[in-house]
Amino acid sequence: MKEIKSLAQAQKEFSTNHKCREYLAQKRWPNGAICPRCCQDHQHYMPRYHKWYCKHCDYQYSVTVGTIFHNSKLPLTKWFVAVWLLCYSPKGHSAKQLEHILGVAYETAWSMAHRIRVAMANDVNQLPLSGVIEIDAAVMKADGGKATGNVKYEAKDVLGITQRGGVLRMFVLDHLCKAEIDYIVRKNLHEVEKVYTDMCGKLHFLKNLYPTETVNHWLSYVDGEAHVNNCENAFSLFKRGLMGHFHHVSAKWLQSYLDAFAFRYSHRYEKGVLFDRVLASC
Ligand SMILES: [Zn+2]
Repeated sequence: MKEIKSLAQAQKEFSTNHKCREYLAQKRWPNGAICPRCCQDHQHYMPRYHKWYCKHCDYQYSVTVGTIFHNSKLPLTKWFVAVWLLCYSPKGHSAKQLEHILGVAYETAWSMAHRIRVAMANDVNQLPLSGVIEIDAAVMKADGGKATGNVKYEAKDVLGITQRGGVLRMFVLDHLCKAEIDYIVRKNLHEVEKVYTDMCGKLHFLKNLYPTETVNHWLSYVDGEAHVNNCENAFSLFKRGLMGHFHHVSAKWLQSYLDAFAFRYSHRYEKGVLFDRVLASC
């Protein structure tokens, strides 16, 4: 299928459940259905029930088995449009926007968006981070619950790690401290060529782990190759999304929003595959 570039096109391509099931089956089992229970092929399709029957273990299953779409009362047409919307808007879509576009209840829209963000996190967390790396920290304002009369904000420290020209990951920290950063960095970085950071004192210990260069933001934002502009740009785009799109994101769900943003950012040069990657992670 050619790349879908507009909402109208997405609604047309995924206008019936039959089209969606066929698309999902094609992506999931390009060489024919495989039983999810015993992993055998040569399955018998029962078109009347839109299900396969496994002759080896007597299991009956549909194409959505084991995915976020399984046991959902919503038609696949709405799910697919929701996935498309969350993939192709640079800042994502809020549950409120999904509610209006899809014509579903707010709680349903929120739950759909959350499940899709989990699929995006599964994808981005499997991509390798190596080569030339930028590491930077920022403070995000999350919604800490309603105080009387006003919204109470909670400042959360976020660590951003990006491979130049490649993958981005962001992590909500309990504390901006060496122990936590050390754990995240060791877990996520492999075969590092060079690390660039700013003068943040909590990141100084990285010098003991990797070849590291720092940029002093008091003097300049770029010093030759030394800068953390990719991290800064990602943070700033995310903050604009928080303010303009989501308005209130609770501290509890901040990581999920960061993961979805990191997913879109990491695949920014291959937009045509975003939709299929989410389906694959669903
Ligand atoms: Zn089977």
